[in-house]
Amino acid sequence: MRYLDEFRDPRLAADRLSRIRRTATRVWTLMEVCGGQTHSLVRHGIPEALAGCVELIHGPGCPVCVTSEALVDRAQALARQPETLLTTFGDMLRVPGTYGTLLDARRDGGNVQSVASPLDAVELAQRNPHFQVVFFAVGFETTVPASALAVLQASERRIENFSLLVAHVRVQPAMELLLQQADCRVQGLLAAGHVCTVVGYETYNSLVSAYGVPIVVTGFEPVDLLEGILACVVQLETHSARLENCYARTAKLQGNPVAQQLIASVFEPCDRAWRGLGTIPAGGWKLRAPWRSFDAERRFPQAPVGLPIVEALSHRCRASDVLVGRLAPRDCPEFGGSCRPDSPLGAPMVSSEGACAAYYHHAPSPPHRAPSQDES
Ligand code: SF4
Repeated sequence: MRYLDEFRDPRLAADRLSRIRRTATRVWTLMEVCGGQTHSLVRHGIPEALAGCVELIHGPGCPVCVTSEALVDRAQALARQPETLLTTFGDMLRVPGTYGTLLDARRDGGNVQSVASPLDAVELAQRNPHFQVVFFAVGFETTVPASALAVLQASERRIENFSLLVAHVRVQPAMELLLQQADCRVQGLLAAGHVCTVVGYETYNSLVSAYGVPIVVTGFEPVDLLEGILACVVQLETHSARLENCYARTAKLQGNPVAQQLIASVFEPCDRAWRGLGTIPAGGWKLRAPWRSFDAERRFPQAPVGLPIVEALSHRCRASDVLVGRLAPRDCPEFGGSCRPDSPLGAPMVSSEGACAAYYHHAPSPPHRAPSQDES
């Protein structure tokens, strides 16, 4: 682990922190797009450590959080069908849809099982030929290759009782949508290093030229994050906007061609509804025509929706503001009161990558603020 330790070294982190402080002549507003980065930033106290020179706002980069209520409803409906087993990643089980969560569906007798990978769902389908096994496929480009592989494996092994409920999303169209908002405050973007590892980052050049913002490919350890922030601040202070890679140990300009080929052989871009952001043109992935027989939405077009939950929770949740960085998680009136990880009102408090959960677990209270002279 020596390799990673270098990027967790407190002395290196302190050095990068002080370089940011020395470089910034004003407060710059940066957004990290990935929920994994949000958790790492908050866990290491970086937003507070940068107070006065960098404001970090958290983007919509948690795929669980942005999965639309309509798709959660569809997953619930499938789980309630007889002789159907709905499988997905554990985080998805507690994400509320219009009619509650997948855990609610399981409590009501639905068949729901968490799996670590879509390939596990293929195995389940093979072992249970009398069940229709549906994998609720959620995630950015990092998880799409595994879904593609699952379809190819099922096809090769002639497993006909396996299908995908596809909720995969694409990061770059969402970044562009954020930059187009009239009230967008983002002056620099930290691009998600793991997504770039798969799809590369050359295409971000078009965002840099169109919107004049620096984009820095950034990793996940504290030193990675501080180096990405430093690179952004240096660019902003010198009035430049470039695409830069601070995660070169993993992310390459062209990404991983094998993974890209795998994705392209099974999926193609499509418009996708994102929770909180609306429908994003080319913001998702769908199965290509030759693989549509694996599409659960086509295979089960008539799956009945669930029973209404007693109280509509979504109107109290401010996830749509949190997901675009308009509202800080701790400023939501429900945060830590009626909304906690054990009783979440919205997806950002459920997911291991959700911004509200990040603050609840790692920084539940705002930092102590010394009273100003006026207040004392
Ligand atoms: S704290 Fe809870 S209710 Fe508020 S935005 Fe986050 S998930 Fe929604």
